[in-house]
This record gives sequence, structure tokens and C-alpha cells, in this order.
Amino acid sequence: MPELPEVEAVRRQLEPVMRGARFERVIVRRPDLRRPFPRRFAARLRGQHVRDLTRRGKYLLADLTSDETLIVHLGMTGSFRVNGDRADEDVHDHVVFMMSSGAVVTFNDPRRFGLMDLMPTASLHEHPSIGALGPEPLSREFNGVSLARALARKSVALKVALLDQRVVAGVGNIYASEALYLARLSPSAAARTIAGPDGSPRDSAFRLTAAIKRVLRAAIAKQAGYRGDRFRVYDREGKPCATRGCPGSILRVDQAGRSTFFCPRCQRRVAAM
Ligand SMILES: [Zn+2]
Repeated sequence: MPELPEVEAVRRQLEPVMRGARFERVIVRRPDLRRPFPRRFAARLRGQHVRDLTRRGKYLLADLTSDETLIVHLGMTGSFRVNGDRADEDVHDHVVFMMSSGAVVTFNDPRRFGLMDLMPTASLHEHPSIGALGPEPLSREFNGVSLARALARKSVALKVALLDQRVVAGVGNIYASEALYLARLSPSAAARTIAGPDGSPRDSAFRLTAAIKRVLRAAIAKQAGYRGDRFRVYDREGKPCATRGCPGSILRVDQAGRSTFFCPRCQRRVAAM
């Protein structure tokens, strides 16, 4: 499932052909993805220019000259293709944008958990998902102090808390596991243990926010899809821990229905220490 780095890679792929360009033609091949397309979807896009193409958490946002914003979520299997040829055409190509830049931008989504929506730009903050998103993890407002404050009263496991998009936007199963490993924190420690009784950050809060930023920045820099070999713990169950001198091997446990990967040697330290 795409997380922040993968969505950012898509944004960078689309920006050169969509930003400043106009939707000349929009083809929608089905009534819905995860949810129905908004009413008159193609007509509301046609003729509009893309002022800017940004990202918020795992959402792509195209700011249009109609003062509406096109909201795109890739779901589990959504992807875009730019200027493919006939051989690339696929039964799961659900939406095609023909841009004034000359680019043909095709949205493909076999499992159809993706989402496309249109909303007045001025009321984006009222969108049920986007409006509730927590801070961008690579922004300055996301730091040890703010994360400790956000988690100070949460007894849910640290890993589960990091998946909550209201706590931090864009982090998913892969990068939560990776960041907890780098920060040497147990994924099952209570979230509130990164804060003192008064909500002030412990050292672990600063380690964790630094680790989240580091794994996300590294993943964005690589701009590759998700290949198992670039992860330290994710999808490495039973493999030796990558930390020098550590005799541990990576375990997989289930937390809130999702797999968590961690080294029980490196990450047994409780967050409060
Ligand atoms: Zn280890």
C-alpha cells in the first residue's frame, strides 16, 4: 500500500505534465472506485487548469482554476501512467486525463480502493479525512514536543498510534516499523510512554520523530517502488537483524490487524527509558 514516499514519487511524476496544464478531455470508464465519482466529474475538470499539484499525507491535491481541488488517493493498488502506448492499455485503466501539455495521464487501479473527489478548495479543511489529518511528518511542526503532546494520553501501542493519520499524516505499516527499529523502540510499548506525566517529551520522542523523518526522506530519495531489500525490518521475518553485533533476528507480530516487524533485541527497551 502506498505511503507518503510513494505518493510523493507519484506527485513528482505528474507535476511536470499536469502543473500549469489544462484538462482537455477526461474519460471515466466506470461509475465508481472505492466510492462513486463526484457528479459531473469529467465536466467539472474539463477546461480547468492545474494551478498546483501538492500532497497532504497520502492524498494528491490538484488545485484547479475553478477553485475546486481534485483529491486523489491511490488506495492499495492505484497508479498513474504517463504517455503509455497501446501495449500498456489495461482493463483496470479507469480514468484518462488528456492534458494540454500533450500528456495522456492514465489512472489504473485493479482493486479499486482508490478515490477521486472534487471539493471547493476553500473548504478542504472540512473534508472528513483531509481535514482531520495530523501534521506532515517532514514539517517543522512535527517534532518530539508535538508528538509527545499528541500521544501523552494514549495507551494504544506505539506502532498502532503511528498508523493513526490524525497523529501524523502519511505514515503507514512499512515506515512505522522501520522508524521504530531505527529509534530502538518497542512497537508494543504504550504510546504515552514517550511523554512524561505532564506531556513533556522524553528522549524517546525525539528519537522517534527523527527516525520517522529519516526513513521517509531516504525512501523519497530512492524514488523506487517498494522492494523488500531496501527495508531494515519490514518483510524480513526470520532474517538476521541488520544492527552490527546484534544476534537477534526479525520477528513479525500482528497489531490491530496489521503486521509489525521488529528486532526483539534492539527494540526491547521501553519507551519511557
Ligand atoms: Zn537487533
